[in-house]
Amino acid sequence: MKRLASQNVGPDLFTVYDSLFTSNLNARTDEMDKLTDLVGLSQAELVGFVQQIGEPAYRGRQIFAAVQHRRLRSFDEMSDLPKALRKRLRETATASTLTVESRYLSADGTRRFLMKTHDNFPVETVFIPEERRDTICFSSQSGCPLQCTFCLTAQLGLLRSLTPGEIVEQIIIALNDAYGVGEKPPRGTNLVGMGAGEPFLNFDSLLRATRIMADPQGLFIVPHRVTVSTAGVVPRIRELATIPDRPNLAISLAAPTDELRDVLMPINKKWPLEELLGACREFEQTLKAGERFTFEYVMLDGINDSDEQARQLANLLNRHDLHAKVNLIPHNPADPLPYQPSPATRVEMFKGILESKGIHTFVRKPRGRDIFAACGQLAAVTQTVGLGANSQGG
Ligand code: SAH
Repeated sequence: MKRLASQNVGPDLFTVYDSLFTSNLNARTDEMDKLTDLVGLSQAELVGFVQQIGEPAYRGRQIFAAVQHRRLRSFDEMSDLPKALRKRLRETATASTLTVESRYLSADGTRRFLMKTHDNFPVETVFIPEERRDTICFSSQSGCPLQCTFCLTAQLGLLRSLTPGEIVEQIIIALNDAYGVGEKPPRGTNLVGMGAGEPFLNFDSLLRATRIMADPQGLFIVPHRVTVSTAGVVPRIRELATIPDRPNLAISLAAPTDELRDVLMPINKKWPLEELLGACREFEQTLKAGERFTFEYVMLDGINDSDEQARQLANLLNRHDLHAKVNLIPHNPADPLPYQPSPATRVEMFKGILESKGIHTFVRKPRGRDIFAACGQLAAVTQTVGLGANSQGG
């Protein structure tokens, strides 16, 4: 377990985080370790599980629907199951392992959930309502091992990778909070794996979770509605290219040259731009008509936002014959980070240059900045800052 170098960051920032380590890892952890987390099982696996405890297959399907469709998080609520079975389930399994520590509501409607795993690691999830759909940004790891210098999560280091159940449960919690337990969301739900962590360093759990969520008898969020973002783990990009029921792909670029990317995203030293974009090209060739993938480019004032860098970026993508679109993300500042967001006029100039060279470019609107819910701001921050923030204990 890696401990945070908390002297590098503001004093308030990691209060909860520190308390997570000083609090006793209590009986709950030992007890939970023995239980099967049903949230992380596919329907077929759940059927297998109930058969093992001597129950008929249909009970497995019934429990799968209770967990994934009715979004119930305790066996007590599953009143359509016989009492004896509920008791047996309580002894062998669990339908929830995460607890919500705090919940923050942004002036723009975005909600950030700071949760805790059963063994006391922080997990963050963001719910972003939009006119025509909702987006839930989930975490794939507690903390993150990558050391991107513009990202607050990096300061936590890697605590641990999340299990498939812990990934799926984030979505269940966010939907229940927004709409009520089991209520059908009025709009479509999109998922983005852009919260804390590097999803491609937890690839198996990520894919297992997306398959569980795609089940029509469960959450029914199909891979087409899921986008996972990677800092550039090349072997997994290649692997994703071979998977038929895969989620959409986004690549965090942040710099048009190896020289700069080595500094901003040290993972570039392992998989430099030529290799990364080569893998992207392979991936692009496997896309079906109408499908695209995305590059994300965080805009850092005076660092990666010049006209020259826009031309370099356009030339780089064109040279690799990539047709992916570029999302420019205004940097979300935070005290310990040594960067400022590029001014809006600079972002527009940058966009103009990319477009003049045939690259489809969008500027992503930051959401939930006032509650530390925006990209790169997830770091178990307990304080709400800024205007209009409304903190509600969870
Ligand atoms: N590890 C994955 C997913 C998490 S980061 C990845 O790197 O893609 C999700 C997105 O947030 C990335 O595109 C990243 O570049 C961006 N990001 C990180 N810190 C940011 C910040 N402070 N402001 C704006 N975007 C940021």
